Amino acid sequence: MQSFDIVVVGAGPAGGHCARTLAKNGYRVLLAEQHSSFEINNFSSAATPLKTLELFNLPEQTIGNVWDKLTIVSSNARKTWTSPEPLGVVFDFAKLRQFLADEVTEAGSEVWMGYRYFKHYRENGETIAEFKRKGTTEPTRVKTKVLVDATGSARAVMYPQKRNRPSFSKATGIEYLIEVEPYCYRKLEQELVFFLGSKWMPQGYSWVFPMEGNRLKIGVARYYGKHAIAPVEDRFKNRINLITKNYLNLEDNYQLIDVHGSTLCYSMGLKDVYYRDNTIAIGDSVSTFNFLGGEGIRYAMLAGEVAARYIGQYVKGEIGEFDPYRKELRNYFLRRWQISERIAKKVYFEYDDRAIDRGVSYIGSMNLKDAFDILFEYKFEKATQGILPLLKRQWIAFLQSIRERFDLNQSKI
Ligand SMILES: Cc1cc2nc3c(=O)[nH]c(=O)nc-3n(C[C@H](O)[C@H](O)[C@H](O)COP(=O)(O)OP(=O)(O)OC[C@H]3O[C@@H](n4cnc5c(N)ncnc54)[C@H](O)[C@@H]3O)c2cc1C
Repeated sequence: MQSFDIVVVGAGPAGGHCARTLAKNGYRVLLAEQHSSFEINNFSSAATPLKTLELFNLPEQTIGNVWDKLTIVSSNARKTWTSPEPLGVVFDFAKLRQFLADEVTEAGSEVWMGYRYFKHYRENGETIAEFKRKGTTEPTRVKTKVLVDATGSARAVMYPQKRNRPSFSKATGIEYLIEVEPYCYRKLEQELVFFLGSKWMPQGYSWVFPMEGNRLKIGVARYYGKHAIAPVEDRFKNRINLITKNYLNLEDNYQLIDVHGSTLCYSMGLKDVYYRDNTIAIGDSVSTFNFLGGEGIRYAMLAGEVAARYIGQYVKGEIGEFDPYRKELRNYFLRRWQISERIAKKVYFEYDDRAIDRGVSYIGSMNLKDAFDILFEYKFEKATQGILPLLKRQWIAFLQSIRERFDLNQSKI
């Protein structure tokens, strides 16, 4: 039986980055992934702000495209911001995870693709993890000092039995990767477009993101639950067709390359189990994605990096438990994520189109920096800071109009 310092289960952004960090620090790591290739579960739309590349030292080869334009469309409102500089990238999600896995191997550790974790137990004071390889009946066993749950929403290590899992808030996202004519692609080549409101995707949102080579990602996400005013349950496919036909003006002149998607499970108030003895959970397994926007790659990697620091200390015997990890992560996320939860509940389950249109118009009245900070940095205080100047502007305009009318009347007299 092989023995490792750390076994990381799941080679998503969280697991890949955690394993890569630990392997580079000289630990003997195993990164185990259930799928045999990253093309199989290539589910994420993978848009992220530019700084993610620098924060996690990611090379150009992981990028699908760069974006410098941002558009929000609701049922009756629309706003586009354009920047002279790139604002972010859309990762090639398969290439990103492949790169992280390659770094693990290059640092002298191991990556096992096609190995599905199914249980772990203690034997003679040691932790044994068991994996099943596709097509084999005999389990593969490994020994480890620390076991990492990086299985995303599955939380397969923390909750091996599905029936024992607590209930989560969920959203399902489905995405089509399509190839379009160059003239159509050029219009959206460097633009992220988000759609809100009942016209596009009630109880959720949809998007168009650019990839390389005339390809676009068209996605829809719907939150589980019932909208207070207008619950809609038609098929995801219809909502994607709506964008291809009504927004992109495409009929049959595109090619469907791939359909993928996944369901994200989120613990409201971040009540996940972060650790148990020498087992620690990272990334979506501890709800690091933002429930309002569904953005999670950089936060999964951040959790992987923070965990790597504590795991190193644990293996060296400097700490005896992972509670400091739990505290640090909750301290980083809790406040902003709870505000996001509250806004998500309003936007996806309570607001009608008028309220959503008003919200889009309000954010649309802001400059790019402030809008970006709210939409991608979750600095919601900027939204309230903007209300007073807006009210002031509206009030001055109102007084102005009265004065003009008064002056007009005076001159008539
Ligand atoms: C449709 C959609 C669009 C999205 N778009 C964006 C976006 O534009 N930008 C963004 O930042 N985020 C986006 N996200 C969210 C983002 O993809 C996730 O937050 C991120 O992938 C989480 O990383 P992770 O490593 O924690 O989990 P995951 O990426 O889910 O990785 C978990 C890995 O564990 C493996 N695994 C599971 N069970 C086992 C097992 N028993 N044994 C072995 N391996 C196992 C899985 O196969 C998987 O590879 C999107 C999500 C969805 C569903």
